[in-house]
Amino acid sequence: MIWIHDYHLQLVPAMLRSQRNDVRIGYFNHIPFPPPELFARLPWRTEIIEGLLGADLVGFQRDRGARNFAGLAEQLTGAQIEIDHPLGRDGSPGLVHHAQGITAVGAFPISIDVGEIETLSAGRTTRQQYNAIRNRLGEPEVILLGVDRLDYTKGIGNRLSAFGALLDEGRLDGSRHILVQVATPTREGVDHYREERHEIERLVGEINGRHARLGFPVIHYLYRSLPLEELVPLYRAGDVMLVTPFRDGMNLVAKEYVATRLDDDGVLVLSEFTGAADEMTEAVLVNPHDEEALKSAILTAVEMNRHERRNRMRSLRAKITSHDVAEWARRFLNILEQPETPEIPEKLEISGTGITP
Ligand code: UDP
Repeated sequence: MIWIHDYHLQLVPAMLRSQRNDVRIGYFNHIPFPPPELFARLPWRTEIIEGLLGADLVGFQRDRGARNFAGLAEQLTGAQIEIDHPLGRDGSPGLVHHAQGITAVGAFPISIDVGEIETLSAGRTTRQQYNAIRNRLGEPEVILLGVDRLDYTKGIGNRLSAFGALLDEGRLDGSRHILVQVATPTREGVDHYREERHEIERLVGEINGRHARLGFPVIHYLYRSLPLEELVPLYRAGDVMLVTPFRDGMNLVAKEYVATRLDDDGVLVLSEFTGAADEMTEAVLVNPHDEEALKSAILTAVEMNRHERRNRMRSLRAKITSHDVAEWARRFLNILEQPETPEIPEKLEISGTGITP
């Protein structure tokens, strides 16, 4: 049994299949799988789809990724979909019949090691660090927190701008509300990423220039990667967690934040465009492309009363704890293990030739 991970290796399933007919091949796509009208622009669209069809099971974060893939397989290779609405989460995956055989396709939303995070969060070190963090930040009323790779898909700039605009308009107060942004270095050799970093650092400087008091910045910006032992106390200290990507396969930071909140407190502001938004419906969901909506979501989170915070966080925690990463892996591998060997119905005509959308 071979389990291949992520988009860099989309051609590998078919390469492997051509050499080994005696193995079960699984593939999981960690990032969003684009809608057909976007994917169809790729010069190598058919090669990628055929590459993936070399697998026995192809998993995606969301139902819509599975549907996009199945639809493209139909369009580009003449494959036939047996179940038109592939279901990975609630039932068996749908089946795609193609020239090389049958590929099961479904949604398998990934999760985190909840036990590890809860243990870290309950520990004495976390409690001590939590107090030290709040103290060092000047005991603000509300700490807003962002933790992301410094990637243009994460929407860090829009988030900073929305926070800055709320300070400009006097709807937030820099002496009571501060933002901590951890931005992890990523793909530093790529121009586009360097430009993104410059833009974010320009925004941090500009907003601090307007609103900081001596010794008290309103945005605390860290450009580095923190170990989980340091992230967990930060999550505990964050009263409002801002997760506002334009696009994200899942977003584990959102799940980690919730898993640390053993106190049933804290508010998660979550982009609708993350895989996590499918499950975490008790978060304050937001469209990060809409600056007014972003500002309003931040204010809703900052002003939310304790009762509502507790109700929402309890529901979110219940969802996270009932579905952790070990269960995710088990489920994928269990389905991969069971060979799908239904007879291909006579009415299906598998052409194997490319069909232009
Ligand atoms: N992370 C980390 N140190 C940091 C910032 C993030 O270890 O300083 C980890 C975080 O705990 C999470 C992962 O990086 O597990 C980020 O995953 P996510 O799905 O949120 O985003 P990705 O970076 O995969 O797009």
